[in-house]
Parts: sequence; structure tokens; C-alpha cells
Amino acid sequence: MMRLVLMGPPGAGKGTQAVGLSREYGVPHISTGDMFRAAVAAGSQLGLEARRYMDAGDLVPDEVTLGIVRERLAQPDVASGFILDGFPRTIPQASGLQEALRDSNLQLDAVVLIDVPDAELVKRAVGRRVCRECGRVWHVEFNPPPGGACSCGGELIQRDDDRAETVMKRLSAYHEQTEPLKGYYASLGLLLSVDGMGGPEAVHRRVFDALGRCNSR
Ligand code: ADP
Ligand code: ADP
Ligand code: ZN
Repeated sequence: MMRLVLMGPPGAGKGTQAVGLSREYGVPHISTGDMFRAAVAAGSQLGLEARRYMDAGDLVPDEVTLGIVRERLAQPDVASGFILDGFPRTIPQASGLQEALRDSNLQLDAVVLIDVPDAELVKRAVGRRVCRECGRVWHVEFNPPPGGACSCGGELIQRDDDRAETVMKRLSAYHEQTEPLKGYYASLGLLLSVDGMGGPEAVHRRVFDALGRCNSR
């Protein structure tokens, strides 16, 4: 059982860490970014609305975001827990989440902040490539796909919002709107800050250690 929020700036490695943690804890990986991209790909009403904000590097409005998360948290697979990746990103989203959990008599176990300096984030986001078929995430320099294609054979693409200019915009949105959550979760006694520098395995060990300490307390 694990109810976890993975927090961090764009490109910090939230998705990369979430994949491993989801397997280890046997709980679903819930990424609002992935949900919005799926809606965009499906051409739904939600996708049309979300796309305007995503392309501009802005956050999708809180009410829209809270709506899809509430729906997702009502699915049966969440009974075993969840790993929220990229949600919440604002104080209203965080209090909306607290409210939704309270209504179901549930509590978060921890909020893990993956801490990475801005200069490194730009490199991670700009070099990110995603498989069109299976969604696996690679990096041209830090985690290069063998032979240039995904291990599943799928074509690798760059996200529209991973161009340098949009990444800068997303970074300032993070600093302005999301960073205040550090204080919010610290005051709830939930915040675990983890150094996100070094390779994915090193970061994974730090996350796992931090969670181990918090579980045994
Ligand atoms: P990254 O992890 O690189 O920051 P995501 O895949 O989490 O990117 O998000 C991509 C985009 O989707 C964001 O820039 C934003 O426009 C939108 N988005 C994702 N999650 C949220 C959220 N919790 N609140 C508002 N917008 C969101
Ligand atoms: P986020 O979900 O926080 O936006 P991702 O997990 O998609 O971040 O990682 C962003 C990019 O950085 C990807 O190309 C990924 O392969 C790469 N990456 C992830 N973790 C690390 C790490 N610890 N060191 C170097 N590159 C990393
Ligand atoms: Zn693939």
C-alpha cells in the first residue's frame, strides 16, 4: 500500500522514477501529463482545451485538472494506492486532493520532491524522446535508445512542449505556481526532498531510502 505524490520541476525524472516505483509497490502510475496527452491524441473536448495551455507551456486550469484526477481516483485499481506524477501543481489542486482523499477516509503517505537545478532540467527536457508506440521515455544523451529506435521497435518523437523556449516557460510556471507546495506539504509533515542529480538508479535508491525511513517512523 502506498499513496505517493511525486513532485518536481519539468524534466526532473518524475516519470522515470514513477515507472519503477509503480512496479515495486504494485500501485498504478497516474500522470496528469500523460492523461492530457492521451486526450489530445484522441481529439476529445478535453484534449482540445488542454492543448492550448500545454503548447504555451502554461498549466491547464485547476478545475479541469481536478476533474480528471477525481475521476481517475474513483477507479477500482486505486484501492491499492497510487503514485501521482505531476499532480498536484498548485495550492488549489493540493487542497482539492486533500478534500477528495478525506471524503474517502484516505491519507497520503508521502510527497517526494525530486530536486534538480534549472540548467540540468533544460538538458533533460530538450533531449527527451518518447516512443510513439509504448510511451517509454528515453534521452538522446543520458539514456540513448539502442539503435535509435525504442526497444519495442517504435518510432521516437520529441514532445511539442520540449523545445527550449517552452521548457523555460514551464520552468517559470513551476517556480511560481508549484514550488509553494513545498511549504504546504512540509507543514503537513509529508515532504521528502531527494537530490535528483546523478543517474536514474542513484536517484531511485535515494527515493527508496527516503520512503523506507518514512514508513518505519
Ligand atoms: P513534465 O513532467 O515534463 O513537467 P507533464 O507531462 O507532467 O510534464 O505535463 C505536461 C503539461 O501538461 C504541463 O506543462 C501542463 O500544461 C499540463 N499539466 C500536466 N499536469 C498538470 C497539472 N497537475 N496541472 C495543470 N497542468 C498540468
Ligand atoms: P519528468 O517526468 O519529471 O518530466 P522524465 O522522467 O520524463 O521527467 O525525464 C526527463 C528526461 O530526462 C528523459 O529524457 C529521461 O530519460 C531523462 N532522465 C530521467 N532521469 C534522469 C537522471 N537521473 N539522469 C539523467 N537523465 C534522466
Ligand atoms: Zn516503445
